[in-house]
Amino acid sequence: MGLQEIADRVAKAESAAGRPAQSVKLIAVSKVQPNERVEAVLAQGHRCFGENRVQEAAGKWPAFREKFDGIDLHLIGPLQTNKARQSFDLFQSIHSLDRPKLAKTFARLAQEVGHCPDLFIQVNTGEEPQKAGILPADADVFIQDCIAMDLPITGLMSIPPAEEEASLHCALLAKIAARNGLAGLSMGMSGDFEKAIALGATHIRVGSAIFGERVAT
Ligand SMILES: *Cc1c(COP(=O)(O)O)cnc(C)c1O
Repeated sequence: MGLQEIADRVAKAESAAGRPAQSVKLIAVSKVQPNERVEAVLAQGHRCFGENRVQEAAGKWPAFREKFDGIDLHLIGPLQTNKARQSFDLFQSIHSLDRPKLAKTFARLAQEVGHCPDLFIQVNTGEEPQKAGILPADADVFIQDCIAMDLPITGLMSIPPAEEEASLHCALLAKIAARNGLAGLSMGMSGDFEKAIALGATHIRVGSAIFGERVAT
């Protein structure tokens, strides 16, 4: 696999779903990948990447940014409140807004620094205790509270349970987004991005299918 093959599969899935070409943003998830692999994808012209840890992103992306223009970096992993300020400097989008305390911190920081990354609210569609995200039953109130705080809420994000049919979770996420007037849907990973595109994904987060298996650290 690799970037070109995945880009081709995304284009086919867009067309099969009757969606415009390039309506889906491919986030290349580079967490834990060796720098050579990331640089190879940058050299092919790709600019949109995802990282799941602030510390790791802070360690590697400033150097890439010196070499390559226009990098669009997305935080897709859980965010501690005390790293929120740092995340504003590193990321253009944050996909893991999952609790009121973090929303309040973002609102305060947006005032202080004068900008805010695009935000996705993470929904724990599988209601898994070990997973981050607002529960589906609490989602409408939380989404509307965030919008009332003037936060730039782009859409919703979910990570379906590994052992369940992803389509059910994608459909649930799309339904919650639609009834709250949100257009963005961050869903779909290496194993299920075509299904996610069929169900309306606007942002897919694909790691191992582009870069190869992650080496355990
Ligand atoms: C690692 C990760 C991905 C990418 O997973 P792959 O199966 O390698 O495509 C997507 N989303 C999140 C939140 C991740 O942490």
